[in-house]
Amino acid sequence: MKNEENILQQRNIKPTAMRLLVVEKLLKQQYAISHKELAEQFENADNVTLFRTLKTFLEHKLIHTIDDGSGVIKYALCQSGCNCDLSELHTHFYCTECKHTFCLNETEIPNIKVPQNFKLYGANLVLKGKCDKCNK
Ligand SMILES: [Zn+2]
Ligand SMILES: [Zn+2]
Ligand SMILES: [Zn+2]
Repeated sequence: MKNEENILQQRNIKPTAMRLLVVEKLLKQQYAISHKELAEQFENADNVTLFRTLKTFLEHKLIHTIDDGSGVIKYALCQSGCNCDLSELHTHFYCTECKHTFCLNETEIPNIKVPQNFKLYGANLVLKGKCDKCNK
């Protein structure tokens, strides 16, 4: 079985040609990608199908969204077994030179205290700086 097919089946997503292609792209990406950037790589695919594919992937927690402050939502693959729970969230890194956003999967978001009776649902921690390539 192909790796991409395996990844989809682990998340109970039926492998279709489009889905396999999108996973393949996401696997190759070193950084998070926006819907527009993804669409540009699929000249022949229609936007609706692509959008639905991303929606399915989100629902099955194969990918997560990142709001890096650039005004455009970006998408990146989740690590295998990720449930996108608050305790599993990781930090993101936005490079101000190349404008790419990276998942820092090894850097968890620290336990943040909220006031009494406040309920925390999510957290978005974006670090800013230069990535390894831009910092050379
Ligand atoms: Zn996740
Ligand atoms: Zn960079
Ligand atoms: Zn991420």
